[in-house]
Amino acid sequence: MRLFVALNLPDVVRRALWEAASALRDRDFPIKWVRPEGLHLTLKFLGEVDDARERELRDALQRAVAGGKTLPLVLGGFGVFPDFSRPRVVWVGVAPDPALELLQHGVEREFGPLGFPPEGRAFRPHLTLGRAGRDARARDFEGLETALSAMRFEETVVVETLDLMRSTLERGGAVYQVLQRERLS
Ligand code: ATP
Ligand code: MG
Repeated sequence: MRLFVALNLPDVVRRALWEAASALRDRDFPIKWVRPEGLHLTLKFLGEVDDARERELRDALQRAVAGGKTLPLVLGGFGVFPDFSRPRVVWVGVAPDPALELLQHGVEREFGPLGFPPEGRAFRPHLTLGRAGRDARARDFEGLETALSAMRFEETVVVETLDLMRSTLERGGAVYQVLQRERLS
């Protein structure tokens, strides 16, 4: 199964974000949009994992939250990875936060020894809103930067759980399911 560790948002925030991005979806950029129920902040992508390891991963998740506090996340600001000349991912930003970093470190600390080493790149907290289509070309994204800078969305959300997620790649896009939920205190 395909797994990742994430922070999920309250439904009302996902809806609000989805609404805020509607003007962007109305433009004809070749972007595949994440469904509102799928909006999340990935802390660690685990990838394909043998079913037999589920227990081990659940235990690691539990250790990763130990002593972790609920997180107020400040969402706002839109951008793309890696850059506007070749956008792959369109995102809404998450303000850097010490408690968030601590939690992310906790996840790396617990999952690293299980064979999921830290990514070689810096942690840039974000919620992916959409991904560029496979055969999109640079010129298809003309106007995207301007469109993103015109968008308005500011929200502070309190996240109360750390979730082990399962991703099933279906024809209409990935479908996510919570496998295990650990409460922050
Ligand atoms: P799709 O792959 O169909 O476009 P998706 O990327 O949402 O959909 P997954 O590939 O299963 O679905 O990814 C699950 C989560 O893990 C997403 O938040 C995704 O951005 C993140 N992710 C996927 N691959 C990586 C990776 N190599 N490194 C870091 N994060 C990743
Ligand atoms: Mg993917």
